Amino acid sequence: FQVAARIDDAKGTKEHTQRFLAYLREVEDGDLTLGIAMTDAKGDRSKRPHEQGNADTYVHIVERNAQGIVISGTKAIVTSAPYVHELLIMPCRNMTEDDADFAVCCAVPVDAPGITIIARPAGRPGEKSALFSNKYGQSTAVVMFEKVFVPWERVFYAEEWEHSAFLTYNYATHHRHTCIGARAGFGDLLIGAGALMCEANGFDPGSETHLREQMVELIKITEGFFACGVAASVYAAEDPHSKSFMPDPVYSNIGKLLLATQIYDMQRIAHYVSGGLIVALPGPDEDHNPATAAKLADVLRANPDVPYDKRIETARFLEDLTASYQGGWYSLISLHGGGSPAAMKQEIYRNYPIGNKVELVERLLARGLTTEPDRAIGRNKQPGKCCAQGCTVPGAPIMVDMPKAAKRIKKVA
Ligand SMILES: Cc1cc2nc3c(=O)[nH]c(=O)nc-3n(C[C@H](O)[C@H](O)[C@H](O)COP(=O)(O)OP(=O)(O)OC[C@H]3O[C@@H](n4cnc5c(N)ncnc54)[C@H](O)[C@@H]3O)c2cc1C
Repeated sequence: FQVAARIDDAKGTKEHTQRFLAYLREVEDGDLTLGIAMTDAKGDRSKRPHEQGNADTYVHIVERNAQGIVISGTKAIVTSAPYVHELLIMPCRNMTEDDADFAVCCAVPVDAPGITIIARPAGRPGEKSALFSNKYGQSTAVVMFEKVFVPWERVFYAEEWEHSAFLTYNYATHHRHTCIGARAGFGDLLIGAGALMCEANGFDPGSETHLREQMVELIKITEGFFACGVAASVYAAEDPHSKSFMPDPVYSNIGKLLLATQIYDMQRIAHYVSGGLIVALPGPDEDHNPATAAKLADVLRANPDVPYDKRIETARFLEDLTASYQGGWYSLISLHGGGSPAAMKQEIYRNYPIGNKVELVERLLARGLTTEPDRAIGRNKQPGKCCAQGCTVPGAPIMVDMPKAAKRIKKVA
């Protein structure tokens, strides 16, 4: 929607916005679910789309006619592709003029002729010990497009390469904002299960110092990146083209960066407080072995108030989330889902108002304001973040002019 409005503003038209809104209405009226087909197979990462030996490593336009466009290529990682109604195809990077064929954003039904979906299962279906992921999970798929026809009413842009960066970076900010909520929910599960394991092992983590320290670390990590998500919402700003709201890009990207790197610490802490049993326990098939079940329940009970079956249930739950192949999946979706850490770092630096901070220090040092437009560290200034001008957040600090040096001396005297 934002990029459709931006293209219309640039061209002095209305058709892109109208087309997108008509599609949005169709999605809402039909209660359709969409899969996001953004990440291309990408081929050789050091080369741009038009430089690839095989053009099908990126989805691209192979034909345009009066009825619509025809696309081919590969999207490599599409969550829930086998069980959504439609795929929303977007470019995964900024494009140059030479990449124009690869700059395409459109929607197609999953069963459109020419689409092949090669998927892996959602979670760990049918596995008895997978106490979370035999119920909850997400399938990911490679989606191959071979001469798929898309009518114009479902093409949101085609070959407008100069708008690709805007789409990719803005979509990524929205997506990273939502990743924060998803992983904070995962943190809630580890906090709850970690406390249950401590209790089952015979400890109150509140009074056992080293366990409390670990639990506090887990809470700090989870609520720390969640707070970035809240801040990104509070500091959301209106997109000048579409008038829809954008979460703050700095807080969204910092939150996603924190969870991407700290997911491994979260899993380590869950292991620390639980003990090795979570990966060493006999599997569910042994639960009803008449030769050993009763004895196991007796000797592997720790806290007398917590029955053995409850202790192993929590242990298996934690194994599923942190030490199974699904546990590894959670690490990877946190690290790379929504973009790899390098992408977040780029966005943080690109959007952060370093120029304002430079100005602040130079003002305190009485150097006067620097206005050279080409000065690298002075370029990025963001009115509204450090002054009242344009700010919508109540209670935001206001920068006032420093008193003049001469007056200050007079007052002291
Ligand atoms: C579980 C899961 C679900 C996902 N769901 C979806 C989805 O629904 N839809 C969707 O579109 N995508 C989805 N993604 C894809 C996700 O956005 C990508 O994994 C992410 O953007 C990284 O791309 P990649 O996996 O191809 O890794 P790569 O791009 O191969 O990155 C590997 C490493 O190389 C570096 N690198 C890559 N290119 C360059 C370069 N040009 N210069 C310097 N360094 C570079 C990266 O920073 C990274 O460190 C999902 C990913 C996961 C793990």
